[in-house]
Amino acid sequence: MFDSLIVGCGMAGAVVARELAERANKKVLVLEMRNHIAGNAFDLLDKDGIFIHQYGPHIFHTNHQRVFDYLTRFTAWRDYQHEVVAAIYGSLMPVPFNLNSLYLAYDGDKAARVEQKLIAAFGMGTKIPILELRRQTDPELEELADYIYRNIFLYYTQKQWGLAPEEIDPSVTERVPVFISYDNRYFQDTHQGIPAEGYTALFRNMLDHPNIELRLDTDARQVLRLESGQVFFEGRPFQGTIVYSGSIDELYDCRFGRLPYRTLDFVFETPALTWFQPKGTVNYTVDQDFTRITEFKHLTGQEKEGITTIVKEYPRSYTGTESETPYYPIENPENRALYNRYKSLTEEIPQLYLLGRLAEYQYYNMDVIAKKALELADTLVSHAQNGSQE
Ligand SMILES: Cc1cc2nc3c(=O)[nH]c(=O)nc-3n(C[C@H](O)[C@H](O)[C@H](O)COP(=O)(O)OP(=O)(O)OC[C@H]3O[C@@H](n4cnc5c(N)ncnc54)[C@H](O)[C@@H]3O)c2cc1C
Repeated sequence: MFDSLIVGCGMAGAVVARELAERANKKVLVLEMRNHIAGNAFDLLDKDGIFIHQYGPHIFHTNHQRVFDYLTRFTAWRDYQHEVVAAIYGSLMPVPFNLNSLYLAYDGDKAARVEQKLIAAFGMGTKIPILELRRQTDPELEELADYIYRNIFLYYTQKQWGLAPEEIDPSVTERVPVFISYDNRYFQDTHQGIPAEGYTALFRNMLDHPNIELRLDTDARQVLRLESGQVFFEGRPFQGTIVYSGSIDELYDCRFGRLPYRTLDFVFETPALTWFQPKGTVNYTVDQDFTRITEFKHLTGQEKEGITTIVKEYPRSYTGTESETPYYPIENPENRALYNRYKSLTEEIPQLYLLGRLAEYQYYNMDVIAKKALELADTLVSHAQNGSQE
């Protein structure tokens, strides 16, 4: 009855589903274990009528023209340039730390001197990882590196990962740059914004195709069985393509042990204020148990007097209980080796494709996973057109 099965209705699953349905005329079944579409980008009106992002703030940003054009088929955009500030002993400092932050951290003379040194060493407009700044021998640059390290990086990172910074993969560390610029925006991508009607509406439009059937509240593991290189769907052998965007360890009942993740407790509050804070996100880098507070009205542009919704994020280890969501893979060689053991099990099933942050055990921004989904769809569509591997 179906040509293709898609597991998970986040960005990975929804894009591939639409592409196979539309370009290859495949009958596609999308299985989603939650009671809603859109994966972690899911948004909705809360009980007080404020539009919120259920799984934390999602800001779309991309330099990939194809991805932007593709998603623009399904949504108009609200232009939104995200700014983040760090609450440091009473002052709100732009992050990534930039030249405006420098003038908040130091008095004017010292800030001007250090600014010149930064520009001479790295050039205006560059972003350098915090660890690189630390390697400089100039005492004032070293001092600045220490300032940023202690006041912006250290405590936040410890909270986020539950680890000492040295234990964190450099690729994660590099995500906390120093920006030699007066540009306070968190992202510099060509395209930035929030879907005008929200992410859920974008996904609804993407899934609105006669060849797509969606089953919510359906854990794929209840209907899909992998056995001796064969796939069984609802008890019968299934020869079609399967794109799996769920956790790879769960696909194999965690037989080698669970892949470690960080999860987040989101605590929503609705103060009786028109505005709670001056920017979309405030990071708490020197105190508090939560990492950051986001106020959704900044992101969505919703206008409402005397009420606003904020969310505080409390990171902790993921234990695998049903109410928890695995959010951030913990990148290290040991965990990658465990992932590879699971991945090698899938090699005996060539019709099975792993795609997405859970299936690949990799943090991806939405645009990157959309790009990967379009590329996988290109391959599958061309297979379908050539009559191979379907
Ligand atoms: C707190 C937070 C903030 C973020 N902010 C941004 C941001 O600002 N900008 C940005 O670009 N990206 C952001 N991201 C990343 C973004 O959420 C990911 O890029 C996106 O979730 C990846 O899409 P996906 O389809 O791989 O995963 P998901 O969105 O997680 O979708 C996977 C889906 O598969 C379903 N599923 C899993 N297992 C099964 C199963 N066995 N059966 C059926 N269904 C199953 C899940 O329920 C889920 O709906 C953020 C991530 C987090 C955690």
